[in-house]
Amino acid sequence: MSSDSRTKITFYGGVHEIGGNKFLLEDKETRIFLDFGMQMGKANQYFTEFLQPRTCNGMGDLFEFGLLPKLKGLYRKDYAKHMGFDGREGNEIDAVILTHAHVDHGAYIHYLRPDIPIYCSEATKLIMQAFQDTGTGSSDEYVTFKENFMVRLNRIGDLSKITGKDMSYPRRLLIFDNSKKFTIGSVEVEAIPVDHSLPGACGFIIYTSMGSIGYTGDLRFHGRRGTETQKFLEKCGNSELDILLCEGTRVHENSSESEIDVEEGVGKIVNNTENLVVCSYPTRDLDRLLSFYNAAKQSGRDLVIDLKQAYILKLFQNSDSWKNIYPKPDDRKIKIYIPKKVWGLIDKDIEYWGKKMLLEDYPNWVHEFLDYDNRADYRTVSSNQKEIIFYCNDFQLQELIDIRPRENSSYIRSSTEPFDDEMALDQRRVKKWLLRFGLLNKDLEWNHLHVSGHGSGDQIRKIIEGSNTRTLIPIHTEHEEFHKQWHPRVQDVQLNDSVSM
Ligand SMILES: [Zn+2]
Repeated sequence: MSSDSRTKITFYGGVHEIGGNKFLLEDKETRIFLDFGMQMGKANQYFTEFLQPRTCNGMGDLFEFGLLPKLKGLYRKDYAKHMGFDGREGNEIDAVILTHAHVDHGAYIHYLRPDIPIYCSEATKLIMQAFQDTGTGSSDEYVTFKENFMVRLNRIGDLSKITGKDMSYPRRLLIFDNSKKFTIGSVEVEAIPVDHSLPGACGFIIYTSMGSIGYTGDLRFHGRRGTETQKFLEKCGNSELDILLCEGTRVHENSSESEIDVEEGVGKIVNNTENLVVCSYPTRDLDRLLSFYNAAKQSGRDLVIDLKQAYILKLFQNSDSWKNIYPKPDDRKIKIYIPKKVWGLIDKDIEYWGKKMLLEDYPNWVHEFLDYDNRADYRTVSSNQKEIIFYCNDFQLQELIDIRPRENSSYIRSSTEPFDDEMALDQRRVKKWLLRFGLLNKDLEWNHLHVSGHGSGDQIRKIIEGSNTRTLIPIHTEHEEFHKQWHPRVQDVQLNDSVSM
């Protein structure tokens, strides 16, 4: 418990770095985390895909490098007990409120106690559900909690592990309604949708006993929902903000391109391509999917998406508020690509092998798509190259071996440029593949059509100036100097610092 009675915010990540937002707000007896994300930059300095924190050490491997704050009454008891950290304390956190479902804002909720309620938008929950259902590791468990390290005495008096389905139960995910405020202890929260590179992103205005706080989350004006960011800004301007926590990922850049420019650019390339169009874009950016879908429609082609995207589209179809925004997974202009898996039975004689063997090639969440009329495999794509835009991310390039793009095919890269050595190396490998399959020429230049999920300098300046905030705290940025230029009262916060109101 904090010793002084003033309202304060402590910054456990997300300052002087991009992402990893974990801000603890304390007001009277109420304690709320604003986001609980992974510090990607710092985490990647120690861990890689094949060098991961060990589950058996619970939070310990992350504590070692300061990647999680060492606070009691916050973490899941099964991990905490197993590592002797705590596990007996009661819950000391009233809630976590999530701005959106990107890993640098929400990935570490996996480590939280299941009795901490997590407030999020419906779309955020759907995306976390998709992450979990289509993921592989235990760290993909967002919406359910699975008890680990549980034992019992068996009949002969030896310890035995308790595992299985009955050890899982849903986390307390509470979906907030964007049209009304909700109360957590002594504070009131207003969640307002903003435009970002995945559906369901929100900014917050938080009314505490000592004044109001605005929190942008990640936002921009140049996507399909720029008017939502505009409304968020207007609310901020009318809320007499004492503090604004404002992102600044791209404050040092200026560009005026929009999502619609991406859609038009894609359309032009598609129209100028005789054979197959191959593309890559972020899996969960459904507004980008829509750009490719619209470009496919206007050129009379079908968009062939992967299974993970089909699954997300399916989940969004079950939501009343989202079902008409994105295409259905069985839309007339969509095809769902079924890759060869373990035994590669998709193109074999199913009469001989049997449906059961085919299903065994895929995890359960894939099974229903095997019966969709709009399913496709390499044969469909290979023999209809003029009629298809084929989604192929960097982990699906093997499909090109079976598809064999014909001469005069194109490749469109619709994702961020590499920002570290590892990404640059990965990108060189992708280019080797594309060169091999005639999708790039020797100059290795690809069609790059992309706009960021973050507002550039002019947009962030507009947020700062329009917010009318008394104090400004730069977050989610490595360029605080711009915030200082654009506001007279900037508080420069270091990691683990607290700011009182
Ligand atoms: Zn984000």
